[in-house]
Amino acid sequence: MRLLWSRALLATICAGVLPVLFLWWQNTIPGSLDNAAACLTAAGRITGLLAAYLLLVLVALMARVPWLENRVGSDVTARYHRALGEYTVVLACAHAALIIAGYAWQTGTNPVAETVDVVVDYTDVWLSAVALGLLLLVGTVSARAVRRRLSYESWYHVHLLVYLAIGLAFSHEFAVGTDFSTSPRNRLLWSGAHAVVAAALLLFRVAVPLRRSLRHGVRITEVVAEGPGVVSLYLAGRDLDLLGAEAGQFLRWRFLAPGHWWQSHPYSLSEAPGPDRLRITVKDLGDSSSSLARLPPGTRVWFEGPYGAFTARRRGRHGSGTRPVLLIAGGAGITPIRALYETLPGRGADLVLLYRGSRHEDLVLYPELAAIAAHRGLGLYPLVGPRRSPGQDPLRAENLRRIVPDLAQREVYLCGPAGMARSARQELHRAGVPRRRIHTEAFEF
Ligand SMILES: Cc1cc2nc3c(=O)[nH]c(=O)nc-3n(C[C@H](O)[C@H](O)[C@H](O)COP(=O)(O)OP(=O)(O)OC[C@H]3O[C@@H](n4cnc5c(N)ncnc54)[C@H](O)[C@@H]3O)c2cc1C
Repeated sequence: MRLLWSRALLATICAGVLPVLFLWWQNTIPGSLDNAAACLTAAGRITGLLAAYLLLVLVALMARVPWLENRVGSDVTARYHRALGEYTVVLACAHAALIIAGYAWQTGTNPVAETVDVVVDYTDVWLSAVALGLLLLVGTVSARAVRRRLSYESWYHVHLLVYLAIGLAFSHEFAVGTDFSTSPRNRLLWSGAHAVVAAALLLFRVAVPLRRSLRHGVRITEVVAEGPGVVSLYLAGRDLDLLGAEAGQFLRWRFLAPGHWWQSHPYSLSEAPGPDRLRITVKDLGDSSSSLARLPPGTRVWFEGPYGAFTARRRGRHGSGTRPVLLIAGGAGITPIRALYETLPGRGADLVLLYRGSRHEDLVLYPELAAIAAHRGLGLYPLVGPRRSPGQDPLRAENLRRIVPDLAQREVYLCGPAGMARSARQELHRAGVPRRRIHTEAFEF
């Protein structure tokens, strides 16, 4: 179902290109594309319109609209955002180059002199040049090689410049864009589209989280060490059942303590959500996650969410009943899996958990898992061993089939470090599990 929603989202984004192209077509006089300069300028208009449309789509994808977050999933919207971001930067550069080339050709000036002329003569074009510079900056810091060298916060804060770029570009679209300057109707429609996206952004990223955080009054009640570098935070609040959170979902948490209040981080619920209690379990992977262990009980917590499609709803039907399930966890990936293990319906071999770790002490929450397994009669298999031992990977197809003989019939939920998740997906596929039945939660966007 998630695949279907993801494809529907992509199809909708692609379909949105048609009205944008219609704007150009409607404002192009028949027979006017009879020379190279006019063709270059027309191509510049099209690429400009598409870049502006994609900018709007990029922001809409990050508006955290619950319907999208819970059906398509944040990992997929973030993937689309990243891919479309690259197209947007290319289209915006092409727009500037083609328009300049078209004007230069028409007036017989050289492109450099033409660039200086338009930038100096038109204030709005000058602002759009700044917008293009900002987009290039954001594109550069998002390139994988650069992104790896930056902290998440630095990358994120540079990324916010996209909003400024949209504002700057917007004013030049109306001032010099042929498709808007002459048509009040097009201006209205274009402004309307921007207003809807801005409203969604304010509603879902500011108003709703603020209202929920104030309404539920969540605070830390206890911080418990679970294993090497791993702590659980117990959180209490009012009427938490009204959040409608499900096992397998995550929230973005903002701890109102010095050094923390200005950043929010996603953490999954590590046990079934209760009416007055939630729990998250955090591995110390960086500055913020490692300092959570020092937060005192009573610390106020704001949050966004719940989000995520890694829930029981992904489980498909098999004949007249639900399919048996295999859960695979590694490292901090145990958190949503632990909540699913507790709550997914099933008895005995219907629900099996494979828990991968390099050492026994890395298998955090294991005593709880063992208690759930004993209470519900479920399958639980610790798979302990070094990471890189060729031919020994306990998650190889042959080994998986030995532990879970009906593997190919199962629905699989997988969460763990990126490398483990990638190779486990390949092995599961090799063992006959179709890709549509392998559900993963990625801990990085
Ligand atoms: C959907 C989801 C659920 C997660 N659930 C858990 C969990 O239950 N337990 C757990 O230990 N970890 C979880 N994580 C990972 C956790 O969010 C990061 O480890 C944490 O944010 C690291 O922050 P830092 O400042 O300590 O480290 P940094 O050194 O700043 O970041 C380490 C890496 O974490 C990622 N990251 C950092 N901040 C964010 C952010 N605000 N949003 C998205 N990614 C970020 C980046 O990829 C970065 O490269 C989850 C991540 C996602 C996306």
